[in-house]
Amino acid sequence: MSKVIAIIPQVAALVVLHKILQYKEAPMECGIDESDGLDDQGLPLSGADDSGVSGDLEIVAETRRELVIDHPLALTGVLQTYGWGKIGELSKAAQLHGEFDQGTPYAELWLGVHPNGQAITTLNGQTTNFADICAASPTQILGPQVQELYGELPFLFKVLSIGQPLSIQAHPDPELAKVLHAADPDHYPDDRHKPEIAIAITYLEYLRGFRSISEISENFKRREPLKKLLGPDLAQRLQDYANHDSEQLLRDVYQAVMRADADLLETVTTEMLSAIDVEGEVSREDEWFKTLAEDYPKGDVGMISFYLLNLGRIEKGQAIFTGPGIPHAYLAGDIVEVMSNSDNTVRGGITPKFIDVENLLSMLTYEQGQMPLVETTPLSQSKGVRYVTPAPEFVVDLFDNDCISEQHSTNQGVQLVFCLSGSANLEVSGSAFELKPGGALIIPASCPDYTLTVNEGSMFRVSVAA
Ligand SMILES: [Zn+2]
Repeated sequence: MSKVIAIIPQVAALVVLHKILQYKEAPMECGIDESDGLDDQGLPLSGADDSGVSGDLEIVAETRRELVIDHPLALTGVLQTYGWGKIGELSKAAQLHGEFDQGTPYAELWLGVHPNGQAITTLNGQTTNFADICAASPTQILGPQVQELYGELPFLFKVLSIGQPLSIQAHPDPELAKVLHAADPDHYPDDRHKPEIAIAITYLEYLRGFRSISEISENFKRREPLKKLLGPDLAQRLQDYANHDSEQLLRDVYQAVMRADADLLETVTTEMLSAIDVEGEVSREDEWFKTLAEDYPKGDVGMISFYLLNLGRIEKGQAIFTGPGIPHAYLAGDIVEVMSNSDNTVRGGITPKFIDVENLLSMLTYEQGQMPLVETTPLSQSKGVRYVTPAPEFVVDLFDNDCISEQHSTNQGVQLVFCLSGSANLEVSGSAFELKPGGALIIPASCPDYTLTVNEGSMFRVSVAA
């Protein structure tokens, strides 16, 4: 009879301990691939000091022996308390993590190996960073191909609860990421690009990509004070946009706005607020401008972006993908976000963080118009769907309400599953793991085929594309 193990974040350590106790009777193995390195409980490395798993793992890495880990590992994420997060229990990220204070803003829950927030797991009764386990047993956990390509978990899984808008930002392509990191490692901590998918779990309002030049021209006509940021010649060119090269014109307009000096910005902000209060219909971008002026009474170049970038909204289950050079900002809602394992962001406004206008201007893609949402394809047999993106580091699947129980393979690559709501069951080699909301498992590449069942809820699974 299979055993059932409940995975909720708060009890992850206890669960894994329970799991380890099973090894003596379960067919799954936990040891190292050289039998003379096992102690009498099947634990690795006899003779290693007993100061903790991390020390043991370092020795494993040194001797190039890997722990055999062919069973799922419970993962506990890290909550990030950035100011823009939702407060206390209003934050989905906090709810899913399970431990929070009522007065604190909780912006993001991170599940991955990035140094800025490393998920925790427990192995052989000892709690440690999952990154350490990964480094000690890379081919077991990641699989040979992922290990060779990336040498680490190549994706980062997050839940974001957005109480206030995030910064206007863009992410570098792989080449620029290396250049930025070499020149300024404090502000650009990674030498990797950061493609990202945002999947709404309630809704998401966002800015992404430039509006068409005709729409921008219309916005500047409707809100006259904005023209002061351009000066008379450029304002005239924008009005006569049909007679000019639209990409060059867009570039000139955006650069003029982003380089506007503080005094001019303050004047324009004051005049805009008066105009919004007295003139005509108030649009959604006007509403955002007014809201942000409460925090930035002297104005901020990011506030002007609402008239330049596409303002969009997606509902639960819909997704957007943002590749390099696309200006964007998430404004409100709750999302699951999956990205490459990188934190490289070039910011251009509405943030107290480091703003890098010149790098932002030089790296942007000046394409115009609405960008498509991410398409999904059905997964065979089960009711799951796959979000199709060009990113090689991740593939995201969503299994929703009453998915048919189905057997899955790791295909020799690492996977992560995360229960968003309801409950899910994962059965492998006679053991069953029950996942509750917020529960997460890493399924190592070496794990045998497993069966997945989702009961009246939603579960995400992330694997590596190539
Ligand atoms: Zn981003």
